[in-house]
Amino acid sequence: MRIANLSGRLALIVNGLAVDVATASDGRFSADPQAVFEQFDEFRGWAAAAVLPAGTPFDPAELGAPAPLPRQVFGIGLNYQAHAAESGIAAPSSPAVFTKFVTSFSGPYTQVRLPAGEVDWEVELVAVIGRRAEHVAASAAWPHVAGLTVGQDISERVLQMVGAVPQFSLAKSYPGFAPMGPWLVTVDEFTDPDDLELSCAIDGEQMQKGRTSEMIFSVPELIEKLSAVTPLLPGDVIFTGTPSGVGMGRTPKRFLQPGEVLTTSIEGIGGLRQSFVR
Ligand code: ZN
Repeated sequence: MRIANLSGRLALIVNGLAVDVATASDGRFSADPQAVFEQFDEFRGWAAAAVLPAGTPFDPAELGAPAPLPRQVFGIGLNYQAHAAESGIAAPSSPAVFTKFVTSFSGPYTQVRLPAGEVDWEVELVAVIGRRAEHVAASAAWPHVAGLTVGQDISERVLQMVGAVPQFSLAKSYPGFAPMGPWLVTVDEFTDPDDLELSCAIDGEQMQKGRTSEMIFSVPELIEKLSAVTPLLPGDVIFTGTPSGVGMGRTPKRFLQPGEVLTTSIEGIGGLRQSFVR
């Protein structure tokens, strides 16, 4: 199942066409794309059994973030061995956690204003929670995930590294620094949700390519570690970390420039497209 935020309304994407959920369900489910995660098991059951009306074509520019207003957002740093190595930091023995503030969220196809500094890219698998998770073991974690989407953890490295300790959260939260989408794909759609190819490119030149099976802490392990401390709530968003190939890890270093286009994709989900202006 592909679940989208289309102009701020919850939609199912079926064969490339959009079905408005509030209309198709006669109001049983709200049009609010964030509200569906509060009753996600019920929603999944309805969607599987419902005879849906024919979908309608839509403008992809109207897609928003699939979970646009979560109560909690978790970002995981240095979650791939090769990325920790290119960052010059030892691989963590427990997840390195920060947040991206929700004002940085956007849909999949956007223009992003570059702040002063050095703006970098990070392709990431994003998991959205569909069932409250508190002290959940990794072996029981996947049913707590509503679905997976594509994310970019865009990061301004000067602010991130200034000062005695890194400023991960603030430096990764400029407006437009958390594009997501194009939709949320439920976990049952993947042959192996723990092994998906992810990549990104600038103006068609590949910058990153990896597989989520290379994560130091897999999605289920992250849920175990996070939910041991703080309950994960329906609709919460987890940016799960990036593979190697970011700009600050390259020789010479490279950062996003005005006029460049960043494309990002994950196997079985789809892609993002960001253009940049100063
Ligand atoms: Zn990241």
